Amino acid sequence: MKRLDKDEALSLYRDAPLDELCGQAQAARYAHVPEQRVSYQIDRNVNYTNVCLSGCKFCNFHCRPDEPEKAYTLSFEDYLPKIAELKTLGGDQLLLQGGLHPRYGIEWYETLFRQLKEAEPTLRLNALGPPEIAHIARISRLSYREVLQRLQVAGLDTLPGAGAEILSDRVRRFLSPAKPTARQWLDVMREAHALGMSTTATMVYGHIETLGERIDHLLALRTLQDARPTGTPGFRAFICWPMQLSGTELQRLADAGRLPGGIALPGEPRRWTPDEEFLRTVAIARLVLDNVDHIQASWLTVGLPTGLRALHAGADDMGSIMIEENVVSAAGAHHTLDEMPGRVGQDGRNEQDERDGRDGREEQPGRYRQGGGLACPAAVRMMREAIASTGFTPWLRDQLYQPRLSVF
Ligand code: SF4
Repeated sequence: MKRLDKDEALSLYRDAPLDELCGQAQAARYAHVPEQRVSYQIDRNVNYTNVCLSGCKFCNFHCRPDEPEKAYTLSFEDYLPKIAELKTLGGDQLLLQGGLHPRYGIEWYETLFRQLKEAEPTLRLNALGPPEIAHIARISRLSYREVLQRLQVAGLDTLPGAGAEILSDRVRRFLSPAKPTARQWLDVMREAHALGMSTTATMVYGHIETLGERIDHLLALRTLQDARPTGTPGFRAFICWPMQLSGTELQRLADAGRLPGGIALPGEPRRWTPDEEFLRTVAIARLVLDNVDHIQASWLTVGLPTGLRALHAGADDMGSIMIEENVVSAAGAHHTLDEMPGRVGQDGRNEQDERDGRDGREEQPGRYRQGGGLACPAAVRMMREAIASTGFTPWLRDQLYQPRLSVF
């Protein structure tokens, strides 16, 4: 398949009929993942602190260091029941993310990672992201590589692609001026790839960016992926989702007509419904990122039905059933797995089970509910049924996209 340049990608993204775009993306999907399978994962997103110097205009999660009534940092003891529950529910990975804390340098993270690995040696740490790595490097006066190497020794397994939003300094200067520049984000990832560390790449669209900037973002990822050392994974997956604006400063500024001159929200007039925009974005990512193996359908923000449609637009992975998530939920993402017919309701009872005379709660060793959602094994069953309803075979994976042995 010929590699797309910017003009070709933009033209396809903007102008191709949706069916045609998704058809091309699906052909590319099968070139990467020939099997008729769709993977998913069980993990838990733990936010170790909400204190953050960055103050991104789209973030409802963080608080400033001078807001002690809101600020928290988890103690080591706080993690233990979370890990125990994660293990009970069949997961083995913590997605660990937080803010840019003014006092936490490299030693703080090394201590935390060592403690977590000592408490549970089989635990996988998919932790931090380029903004946090750049922040630690700055306050600890280390290079990105030194930070990554020391954290790897302390227990960091893989680096999430957090904080990319749109890799355009025009966009970043306005939305998140204290975060790393586009170049710095890519530099952290380059260093991680040079160490052989597996990472992911993300894109958060639907704010002040143009369609051209979305394509530039994908092309920057593709260029960096081309440069990864031979035999290393680099970006193993790409995930995109629409920015959640509910209650954010960005939304307030827009509502008050106070976005500075030349900036609009969204950055270009919406040509598509939100669902079509998501499908088109997944599809064009599959086509541009010809050197990234997996594309995720990020169902948490768009809802499960639209997430499932993305499986016919180039995505081959449904991401995580997400035992815990606090950040995008704080800005309005409240989709849960129980959006499909016959799924588990808010009281934990599965409508289909009840019709069948079973009680879904009996098989939940530790019922856990977050953001109105439910976790395993009911959630695993729902995810598997949802994937199967699209004609694909559900496939439980670990964070490296390897099959997992135990499925319950
Ligand atoms: S998105 Fe991350 S870096 Fe930005 S304010 Fe929120 S916690 Fe801080």
